[in-house]
Amino acid sequence: MAMLAVLLMASSAGVMLWLAYAGYGAPVMIAWWAGISVGGQLVLACMVRCGLSAMWRDPSLTFQQILWAITCSAVAYVLAHEAKGVVPGLLAVTLLFAALNLKAKQIVAVSLYAFGAFSLAILFAMELAHGPQPEPAMEVAYAAVLVIMLLGCMLLSLRLYQLRGRLRKQRQELATALAENRELASRDLLTGLINRRHMLELLHLEQRRCLRGVRVMLLAQMDIDHFKSINDTYGHGVGDLALQTFADVVRENIRSSDVLSRWGGEEFVLLISDTDVDGALLTLNRVRQAVQVAEVEGGPSDLQMTVSIGLAAHIAGEALEVTLDRADKALYCAKRAGRNQVVLGERAPVHPSPEMDSMQAQ
Ligand code: GH3
Ligand code: MG
Ligand code: MG
Repeated sequence: MAMLAVLLMASSAGVMLWLAYAGYGAPVMIAWWAGISVGGQLVLACMVRCGLSAMWRDPSLTFQQILWAITCSAVAYVLAHEAKGVVPGLLAVTLLFAALNLKAKQIVAVSLYAFGAFSLAILFAMELAHGPQPEPAMEVAYAAVLVIMLLGCMLLSLRLYQLRGRLRKQRQELATALAENRELASRDLLTGLINRRHMLELLHLEQRRCLRGVRVMLLAQMDIDHFKSINDTYGHGVGDLALQTFADVVRENIRSSDVLSRWGGEEFVLLISDTDVDGALLTLNRVRQAVQVAEVEGGPSDLQMTVSIGLAAHIAGEALEVTLDRADKALYCAKRAGRNQVVLGERAPVHPSPEMDSMQAQ
């Protein structure tokens, strides 16, 4: 925008020089005017470009640039003599910048400044009139056009400022709604845990880290035992409370860096990192025992839950589904062996997956 302002000022200077060449106004004065006007605008643009304006409240220096352009236009109005009719058009372009960038107070300030500067310019232009006496009717018309233009620009700029504010508010509301939506799309409403979709994203990320040899990833599949009978005995509402209690109990017994997700129904997947298999087994047995003694808040006092857990260690390079499948098979073993226990899945030989090939290519 600053460079555009310089370009517009240079074009206006071109028009003024052309007028001087055609015999309107004093050529030397206009040449000085052109140099100073374009130079001033260029200095402001360079300050913006080089970051020198970064500490100002508005680093774009729009307000200062507009004041400078108005000052130059007012001087041009005096220098252009009979050709001063070209100036209001150029001034209108300057005021467009105000409409697009300034705050309401600044718009009023700029308009008042323009009124003042051009009132002086009109007086000077009359004082310095050369040659034949200017026609009073034309002078009045020029002044009226200026007043109409300035007033019109100010009112339209203020209206535009209002619309800009509304747009900004709508954009903020949209951003908030989007953030809420994202949150809803990645969370399970009942337990507050992340859902399967979001967990899969995290697991894929973790899988990449494993590939670089940075992390060890352990996955635990958890399934509440005989959950159907909890629902059947106490009702669906109590079943929901039991799921919430389960999620709370597990969260309380794992590290904050481990990630628990609701995989679906009464099944949960826990991502354990920064520990080895023995550490993970210790954690999972602690979780299992805590679930066994947990009281379902708001539920019947005789309600007890147990959980079966299958643990699998991810082998760098294998597909995520393979690790999850191993954890699932281990869970199945835990169920078959009588439930309420933790079983470690077998380590599978490494089969390079297409996923691994594509990740290594990256
Ligand atoms: P197992 O020990 O073999 O895992 O038996 P189970 O009864 O836990 O397994 P099953 O898969 O037969 O039953 C799971 C039940 O979980 C069935 C379903 O109605 C219930 N369920 C799934 N999601 C919810 C939920 O959000 N709230 C409630 N209350 N129940 C749920
Ligand atoms: Mg199940
Ligand atoms: Mg179950």
